[in-house]
Amino acid sequence: AAKNLTGTTYLHYEAGMAANGSEHAHLGAELREAITGDQLFLVYQPIVSLDDGRIMGSEALVRWAHPTRGTLAPDSFIPVAERTGLIVPLGRWVIRTAFAQLAAWIAEHGEAAPGVLNVNVSARDLREPGFADGVAALLTEHHLTADRIVLEITETMALEPGQSVVNLHRLRALGLRVSLDDFGTGHSTLTLLHDCPIDEIKLDRSFTQAEIDGRPPVSAAVIHLAQALGLHAVAEGVETAEQAEQLLSLGYIAAQGYYFARPMPADKFSELLHEDRSLMPTLVAAGQAFP
Ligand code: C2E
Ligand code: MG
Ligand code: MG
Ligand code: MG
Repeated sequence: AAKNLTGTTYLHYEAGMAANGSEHAHLGAELREAITGDQLFLVYQPIVSLDDGRIMGSEALVRWAHPTRGTLAPDSFIPVAERTGLIVPLGRWVIRTAFAQLAAWIAEHGEAAPGVLNVNVSARDLREPGFADGVAALLTEHHLTADRIVLEITETMALEPGQSVVNLHRLRALGLRVSLDDFGTGHSTLTLLHDCPIDEIKLDRSFTQAEIDGRPPVSAAVIHLAQALGLHAVAEGVETAEQAEQLLSLGYIAAQGYYFARPMPADKFSELLHEDRSLMPTLVAAGQAFP
């Protein structure tokens, strides 16, 4: 079990129970209940501008308030959701909840609301023939324009032929943006990056954080690639001022990570929007924070 900022204990539910089929079935049954019974919630992590620490966007990340086991992190139940097919109703719940939250922020904060909301999508979601249409219907329901939504997919998903690619094209035709998450950890080729329907790459945190070990700067190669292909680039997992400064000097515009803010409940995020201040600790310390 690991601790997060808010002191929540995250249990790695799957650990040690992989061999136990009945436990697995039990977890599946519990998860089914969680989806319909209000036990899931979303936390939101700011995506900030690297030059002034202003909030540009927000990534929605799912959590499970398990009735007896504390708050569970997605790595401990998303795999189960994928194996049991529960990822489809779970994914729908995530998108509906995230869209409703963005609409609420826009209503409450106007211009100060996050410009974009990033939502993680699973491979299974993207294979559903009705996925793009379902997303479009939810946008309409919440009076959101498509350009405020970024869907995060992984490299393997972008490579999948058939329905996934049809959905990606349809989503982009609607005006949503597609981001390649954990970039650099999958099997991307230059051909994939060139041909596949994406708008953004998210540099995986293993590369953001490797620079301090004096390893070759993969982050530099990735930003050059992004610029050459006309893709937006976001660095994830920024934990130190040094990392933030290096990324900015390399040409990165946007980043997220514990250095700026941890994922937080929606009401805490609202407080940040009210304060309308920089999330760049060095600027805040130097008294340079806006307004
Ligand atoms: P991800 O999409 O790459 O999300 C980033 C993960 O890195 C999050 O973990 C976040 O809390 C963590 N993180 C952010 N900043 C830092 C940092 O500075 N240092 C470190 N060490 N970690 C940082 P989380 O919330 O546990 O999510 C894990 C993964 O679960 C996500 O990785 C995503 O792939 C998946 N996931 C989360 N929410 C959803 C969802 O709603 N649907 C689906 N399908 N997958 C989700
Ligand atoms: Mg993500
Ligand atoms: Mg990521
Ligand atoms: Mg990652």
